[in-house]
Amino acid sequence: MQSSLEDTKYILKKYNIKANKKLGQNFLINDEIIEKIISASQINKEDLVIEIGPGLGTLTLKLLENAGKVIAIELDTNMIKILKDRFNLYDNFILLNEDVLKVDLKELISKYSNKERKVKVVANLPYYITTPIIMKLLEDKINIDSITVMVQKEVADRITAIPGDKLSGAITYSVNYYAEANNIAFVDKNSFMPVPEVDSEVIKLKIRNKSQVDVENEELFFKIIKASFMQRRKTLVNGLINSGIITDKNDIKNIFEEIGLNLEIRGEKLTIQQFAELSNLIGKTI
Ligand code: SAM
Repeated sequence: MQSSLEDTKYILKKYNIKANKKLGQNFLINDEIIEKIISASQINKEDLVIEIGPGLGTLTLKLLENAGKVIAIELDTNMIKILKDRFNLYDNFILLNEDVLKVDLKELISKYSNKERKVKVVANLPYYITTPIIMKLLEDKINIDSITVMVQKEVADRITAIPGDKLSGAITYSVNYYAEANNIAFVDKNSFMPVPEVDSEVIKLKIRNKSQVDVENEELFFKIIKASFMQRRKTLVNGLINSGIITDKNDIKNIFEEIGLNLEIRGEKLTIQQFAELSNLIGKTI
């Protein structure tokens, strides 16, 4: 059995292609990490796996061996040709030549899944669109069980930070609202070919059946979170006023008093529960 480094070199040479930097093509060449991703994703023969950006198919091969069905979504037609040649004998493989951000995932899942099948997303994500992909998977409210993905270390640190901690950002709260996020493994940049500029991390998001906070208006809740992190160094009150969410100072004073928040507090200090309370009260006021 060849290692993924030899596989990768061999395939690139055979098809006479080079990694496309614009599409975030950093191919995984570390077998140990591939095993860690597979093990963390806890996939079995009943599961429907969605892989985003299969590339040359290094991770795909392991997914096909372990999952019930694998739907792979790849934008680059060069990769499509390779993947077709490589996996044409697997009857549990579905390949889509599409931009994942434009795919109707709800429709896709309802076409290939049934109630018994759990849907799990497993991928080494293209870094230039990591956040939009993760937010799409969460916000589209598709029926998925978990998302196990490789992302840049810096993004992983933000996503898995405890809301209110120094590293937390708007994405910490948004992800936390929908899922429980955990670090799985640090991945040195030398685990890829070509070698990217930064290290990576595998994270797992286990989707919550029900959010741990009660939010009456999700749109307003996320708008408030975004506004408070847009101007991180300013107070939360300023963030709310400048974004036009709520402008009457008396209203703000009353709401802050009711939740027990100091008027000088910065948004990054709030817990997700406090953001929920804040947005529910603002929703009743405006
Ligand atoms: N899975 C492979 C691996 O681990 O070696 C490749 C991972 S590489 C980091 C990211 C992959 O995502 C590339 O194959 C790239 O062509 C693909 N990709 C980039 N943008 C995409 C998009 N919008 N939709 C689907 N795939 C995309």
